[in-house]
Order: sequence, then structure tokens, then C-alpha cells
Amino acid sequence: MPTFVIQSKCDGCKGQDKTACMYICPHDLMYLDKERMKAMNQEPEQCWECYSCVKICPQQAIEARPYQDFVPMGGTSIPMRSTDSIMWTVKFRDGKVQRFKFPIRTTPEGSINPFEGKPVPSEAELDSPNLFTEIGKTLAKIKK
Ligand code: SF4
Ligand code: SF4
Repeated sequence: MPTFVIQSKCDGCKGQDKTACMYICPHDLMYLDKERMKAMNQEPEQCWECYSCVKICPQQAIEARPYQDFVPMGGTSIPMRSTDSIMWTVKFRDGKVQRFKFPIRTTPEGSINPFEGKPVPSEAELDSPNLFTEIGKTLAKIKK
């Protein structure tokens, strides 16, 4: 079920040009009412329920009503991220609250260099439809 913004918690990302939820939504659904400095999901029926906006919101202002296979009907699940873990707070409709914390990294934040040891592609390879991991195949084709 789609996400919705708890208006009392949203601070409009403190007036930045693009809010965190607008930046992250892959379907461009989040809208900021600049007069009220409150965000909203402008087209809930188009929401993919990917939870990206729920996870990125610094105010924990976005909620989704999850399906029953994830959280009991009528409940909510709200994540809070830290640099090495994520905590899910599950609120049941009878008021019960449970929290689940999971590690999200095996390396220190900011320590990964994704291009380390990888070859720099040539201009011809950049024009090729091949993926980054297929550079060797591209080179072989170019040499033919
Ligand atoms: S990310 Fe959260 S606080 Fe920022 S505008 Fe969106 S709902 Fe509001
Ligand atoms: S759950 Fe995903 S698709 Fe839905 S509003 Fe949030 S970021 Fe966009």
C-alpha cells in the first residue's frame, strides 16, 4: 500500500531545493508544498512501495501500510538508519510495538572504492551497449 507523509513530522527537509524524498523516489511521486513546507505523495496509486522514501526521510515522517506478509494488517513499519545498521519499528494495531535491528554493512561507511582495480574504459567502450563488467568482451570485438 502506498506511502503517506505524516504532516506534523515533515519539516520540508528544512527548505532545501530538493527534499530527500523527492531525490530518492524512482517514480517522482513526492511533491513539496513550498508554502507549508510539507511533502506529500502526489500520486499514491502509482507508488511502487519500494520504501526508499521511508528509509531516507530524516524525520521518520513517511509511513507505509505494509501487506500482511510483512507486518500484521493495520500495522506500520518505520525504519531508522544509522551508519552500520537499520532499526525497524513495527507498530501493531493493538498498540504493541516491536523493534528489529539489522546490520547493513560489513565495511566502514565511505571506505569502499567501487572502481579500485578496474580498467578505465576507452571511448569506443563507452559507446558500446556492453556493461562495465563486459569490457574484456568489448575489447575483443573491437580488435576483430
Ligand atoms: S524527506 Fe521527510 S522531512 Fe524531508 S520533505 Fe520528505 S517527508 Fe518531509
Ligand atoms: S515507496 Fe518508493 S515509489 Fe512509493 S513514494 Fe516512496 S520512493 Fe516513491
